[in-house]
Amino acid sequence: MISHAHSRAESHARIAVLDLDGTLAEGSVAPPFVESLIAGGVCDPAAGRAALDMMAGYQRGTAAHAPSAAAAYDHLARALEGAARTDVEHAAQVAWPAARKKIFPFADELVRLLHAAGLRTVLISGSPYEIVRRAAAELGIGEAHGMRAEFRRGRCTGTLTTTPALPGGKRAALRTATRGGAVDRRSSFAIGNSPSDAEVFEQVGLAVAFEPDPILRGWAMDRDWITADRGNVLAVCQDLIATHPVLGAAGHVAHRNAGLGVAGSR
Ligand SMILES: [Mg+2]
Repeated sequence: MISHAHSRAESHARIAVLDLDGTLAEGSVAPPFVESLIAGGVCDPAAGRAALDMMAGYQRGTAAHAPSAAAAYDHLARALEGAARTDVEHAAQVAWPAARKKIFPFADELVRLLHAAGLRTVLISGSPYEIVRRAAAELGIGEAHGMRAEFRRGRCTGTLTTTPALPGGKRAALRTATRGGAVDRRSSFAIGNSPSDAEVFEQVGLAVAFEPDPILRGWAMDRDWITADRGNVLAVCQDLIATHPVLGAAGHVAHRNAGLGVAGSR
């Protein structure tokens, strides 16, 4: 029963990189967190509201991704300066129920599908890590990367140490996620909705532009990137995997073993 596991361990890692905001979640999970920081008196309210305005501009379609993300990060860094780590964590805990409601119903099934195909899942989001890691845990995603603020002696310095939504940020997060191991690029998968996700798409064989913004939609049309929406994403991904020479075979083994496992394995 474990012979296929041996052969898989010998091959390069196959990963599935998932974006959160606008892909696994409706809009962004960051606003509930920032609102919670403001409501709890944890951050500078004016800077917090300025960050929210920048995020809203991108969500409305009135501002492009890169400049909105850069401005939102600047405001958020200022908002958080001096905040206690424990208060920030508590604000994330308070915000989580509202953020959780934004996760699309298909997200659970998509993660299960990717795991059944033998892929290691990684969530890479521009949103604050305090919320992103909760989303990853909720969905059973093995690893989470998000925006991180620097803390010294329990207080935020006002500096951001990782900024996945900025140009180069998702590529850097992917490097961190795959450090120490070779990646089987042809048999790896990514899904996202913004231009920043293209940095990951360029490094995998299977890329799905999910309800892409206008810039990513244009790039997807110029390349071999499939477009999907909330109504067909599961079918599109199922088909991509089933017809893939390596992942399709892994999926069959996983499904067969899942069936056998009910009756015979412990
Ligand atoms: Mg996104």
